[in-house]
Amino acid sequence: MKILTIAEQKENQLSNISFESIGAAQSLGGEVCCAILGGDTTAAAASLQAKGVNVFAFVHADLTNMQEESYGRLLKQLIDREKPDVVIGSASFYGKSLMARLAGLCGGGMASDCTALSIEEGKLTAVRPTYGGNVFIKVQTAGDGPFFITIRPKAFPEAADAEGGELVSETVDDAVLTCQAKVTERSTGAGGAVSLTEADIVVAGGRGIRAAENFKLIEEMAEALGGAVGSSRAIVDAGWVPYATQVGQTGKTVNPKLYIAAGISGAVQHLVGMRSSKTIVAINRDPDAPIFNLANYGIVGDFLEIAPVLTAKFKEVMK
Ligand SMILES: Cc1cc2nc3c(=O)[nH]c(=O)nc-3n(C[C@H](O)[C@H](O)[C@H](O)COP(=O)(O)OP(=O)(O)OC[C@H]3O[C@@H](n4cnc5c(N)ncnc54)[C@H](O)[C@@H]3O)c2cc1C
Repeated sequence: MKILTIAEQKENQLSNISFESIGAAQSLGGEVCCAILGGDTTAAAASLQAKGVNVFAFVHADLTNMQEESYGRLLKQLIDREKPDVVIGSASFYGKSLMARLAGLCGGGMASDCTALSIEEGKLTAVRPTYGGNVFIKVQTAGDGPFFITIRPKAFPEAADAEGGELVSETVDDAVLTCQAKVTERSTGAGGAVSLTEADIVVAGGRGIRAAENFKLIEEMAEALGGAVGSSRAIVDAGWVPYATQVGQTGKTVNPKLYIAAGISGAVQHLVGMRSSKTIVAINRDPDAPIFNLANYGIVGDFLEIAPVLTAKFKEVMK
């Protein structure tokens, strides 16, 4: 089996999911290679190559920002030439958009947001959540084309360093770069110093924090733990925090080692985005709040009183 992974970079910085994609591919056995596209991929390509895989690097100033049209055309050419059986990318906004287009261009099957991969009866089998994460299904592709898979961030271990990878510099034909849409500006959304989808620890606030200015208590707790901040949709809709922080059905899916839900009731649309977190701690003054049905640990009480005490303790132990 030949597997191509698509690395993800922003401003020439690789996301961890790039290494998790290689790790997921290597766990299946077979030949693994990787594609990277960007404005200057020198350092990124070297780190990918250090995982022992062949790296196809497409470099051009117009590839600095991911654009589905140009990236899609170049990757389609690569897939036609290299003929992978499987293509693995990230279930981030970047990967979901790009991989769906690629599957369409190449006429392959697609499974998104996968949390496990295995070979069953000689066929690649992907596990993916459905019905808001309440049910996990196994899927295989029935088509002849490559099987396109996006993996959930932090669901697979990163690839270990290994010898043997080669760097292949690909030619980028200007004609392939023409896009109907043009990126004129790029600004980083709010959400703290740590990326929400890649963080090991997420501290999220909901309407129970009572007022916009109290979100600083969430930020302080996240900072004490070296984590990222998240939120429920209720406080995004209220204009207290930017959409970039929203976790859930219409926000981001996170998969951290620790998720602290503060003043969040546990509506199904929120749970969809965080229920696969390894350990969930809920802080809520209502002992019957549905979030406690999912939480591993619960603190019943007023967040405004609990937050400063917890944050001080976290600072003490994290010193
Ligand atoms: C199509 C659709 C998509 C949606 N997508 C999303 C999504 O992506 N993400 C999302 O989050 N929601 C989403 N929602 C909204 C979702 O249904 C809920 O309305 C929302 O998650 C509720 O947010 P909340 O838990 O912050 O607020 P609430 O449900 O109002 O809960 C507030 C909680 O805070 C507790 N509380 C109050 N005061 C305190 C205090 N002082 N200390 C401690 N606890 C306190 C309360 O007991 C309560 O449990 C979606 C809804 C729809 C219809």
